[in-house]
Amino acid sequence: MSPDPVTRITPGTPLGEVPGLTTPQLRALGRLDLATVGDLLAHYPRRYEDRTRFDRFPEHPTGDPVCVSGTVVKTTLRRFGRRSIFEATIQEGEANALSPLLVCRWFNLHYIGKAIHTGQRLVLHGRPKLQGKRLCIDHPEFEPVGNDDETLIHLNRITPVHPAGEGAGTRAIRAAVFRVLEHLDDDSVPEILPGGCNPLRRAEALRAIHFPENVPAMEAARDHLVLLEFFLMQLHLAARRREIGLSPGQSMRSPGKLAQALAANLPFPLTGAQQKVRTEIRRDMDSPHPMHRLLQGDVGSGKTLVALCAMLDAVEAGHQAILMAPTQILAEQHYALFRRLLAPLRLRVALRTGTRRESSPEMPLFDAAEPSGVSCPAGEPHLLVGTHALLHGESGLSRPGLFVIDEQHKFGVGQRAALVSKGVRPDVLVMSATPIPRTLAMTAYGDLDVSVLDEMPPGRGKIITLLRDHTKLAEAVAFLRSKLEEGRQAYVVYPVIDESENLQVKTAAREFGLWDGHLSGHRCELLHGRIPAGEKDAIMSRFRSGETQVLVATTVIEVGIDVPNATVLLVENAERFGLAQLHQLRGRIGRGEHKSWCILLTGEQAGDAAARLGILEQTRDGFLIAEEDLRQRGAGDLLGTAQSGLPPLRIGDLGRDRAVMERARDMAIGIYRDDPSLALPENQRYVRAMREQGMPASPPTG
Ligand code: ADP
Ligand code: MG
Repeated sequence: MSPDPVTRITPGTPLGEVPGLTTPQLRALGRLDLATVGDLLAHYPRRYEDRTRFDRFPEHPTGDPVCVSGTVVKTTLRRFGRRSIFEATIQEGEANALSPLLVCRWFNLHYIGKAIHTGQRLVLHGRPKLQGKRLCIDHPEFEPVGNDDETLIHLNRITPVHPAGEGAGTRAIRAAVFRVLEHLDDDSVPEILPGGCNPLRRAEALRAIHFPENVPAMEAARDHLVLLEFFLMQLHLAARRREIGLSPGQSMRSPGKLAQALAANLPFPLTGAQQKVRTEIRRDMDSPHPMHRLLQGDVGSGKTLVALCAMLDAVEAGHQAILMAPTQILAEQHYALFRRLLAPLRLRVALRTGTRRESSPEMPLFDAAEPSGVSCPAGEPHLLVGTHALLHGESGLSRPGLFVIDEQHKFGVGQRAALVSKGVRPDVLVMSATPIPRTLAMTAYGDLDVSVLDEMPPGRGKIITLLRDHTKLAEAVAFLRSKLEEGRQAYVVYPVIDESENLQVKTAAREFGLWDGHLSGHRCELLHGRIPAGEKDAIMSRFRSGETQVLVATTVIEVGIDVPNATVLLVENAERFGLAQLHQLRGRIGRGEHKSWCILLTGEQAGDAAARLGILEQTRDGFLIAEEDLRQRGAGDLLGTAQSGLPPLRIGDLGRDRAVMERARDMAIGIYRDDPSLALPENQRYVRAMREQGMPASPPTG
């Protein structure tokens, strides 16, 4: 592949100027939003087929997909009203009477019938299964292969399969990439990674990721490109951290008298971990730069109190403090708790949520308590608790100093940013009960400092977790009844399968009828997302007071609900939930002195899916569970970049490439340490590369 002497192709060259690209190819690339050579080169293959040697035609069903090549000997199209089945019978190699056959089927895809015809040679990729006596692949990926000069591109090599789209097939994309690489001037591809950290040049890596000589070459190319992708991301995050750290904020220094008074009224001392984290937060609040801290602590570790202490410090320093919860129920719960705890301190707390606002737009619910000695603008509360409705419109607060965001994973980065854009940067404390695996902590939350509550308050009852299949339902019900008879309370959780309102309400009604029957004689109530907020409150408060013994619910009880007397959690069709989610749910029990029970019932169809829940029986360590969850789900991107406001990952995988992420982070931190504003000439390539990826090296201030 020698560069064309006339046309010098660089990453910036528009694809329309690449010699040899046909109009249909260009149109296909346009559909995928690929405009320049650089765009196309960053359109990495999603998998490869080894077309140097095809698999033999299978004789039995296989677990893994096969990649075979054969000739179409027969096609049939059958229609049933508006539905259709198109079948192609394929024979191995140059067809002869003895060659094995394979049937391929496509359902309701009319255009396939036009693309495949007898006598054609195809490469097929799919998983064969037994259909009657025939081996059959449904909806295989396929590609016609001709005998033209293009075989050089598509056959007899490790062949890339690029992400395709409607009207943009893999074959057209592959051919286009091949043309581009034929003409690309390697010297025009800027090196970005710091020298010495990867043996390949970037241009070499790009060539080998698309058309590798062999598997090791592809892996070496991937190593380069993943490191590069993570490195740019980490440079950007380092820039954000730095920018936040340097921007002006308000120093909120206080002796901490209010928090001391609060602690004096509590029936227990703060745990060591709570004290340690409190010190970290106070240090941030003292500083003249804005705090931007993540407080991680497993469910029940006592984050709320730590937050409240920080809020009191802010109030004592003459500011207002705001706590944002992800749901109405939680906001109400915090509000009730704060009112109770703060009444002796004569501080005013207000509540503001979407519905409350609507009903009383000017006057949020005010606590009637007299203002304490701490000054506050007339008519304004010292503390405000609410949902994200707080973010919309006027906050009505004249001196917001501290924002606490509870259960962060329900808030996006955009909402975090909305806080910050309201005038002077307030201090921000983000709380999460989702133990965040290290890789995610380094990405989605990579711009935050982190504190961890790594110690549980004493006196918590034990939780025993049992994984059982659906045949044990009767026993589970009997057990549940026995606990209710002892005076305990319980949650029954069922999965929401359909998002549509009608079906949700129907499922809810059916589930409720079922459990109300199983548990007759005990008061059950139903709680799900479609119940109006006011009613939800009433339901929760009846449960909290013990008037209701059982809540039949969806995962709306997932976060933060705190009822110590509830000691049984029964989850139906547990295999439909993620590990991390089940761990969250389990956090609702084991909050009091009594022993608690988490019963995970799997459904009839669960099959292997049940086995993956086994880890919940073995451990309550949220971090272990989160790592396992990440591993099981194959990671890819997950919530990683979606929440970080960064471009989505194109090649790296947060589960598989964890070590690379750590390395990229160290590299990025090192660069900013030596050149904090990226001013040195040799660092300009990083600034340029970040800008090209749509990540400003220094984000605009809010
Ligand atoms: P989470 O971290 O899940 O938000 P919470 O703040 O809701 O946890 O605390 C869970 C429970 O633990 C609450 O009932 C709270 O009163 C109690 N708690 C908090 N701190 C302590 C402590 N130091 N000692 C004993 N109980 C505590
Ligand atoms: Mg909480």
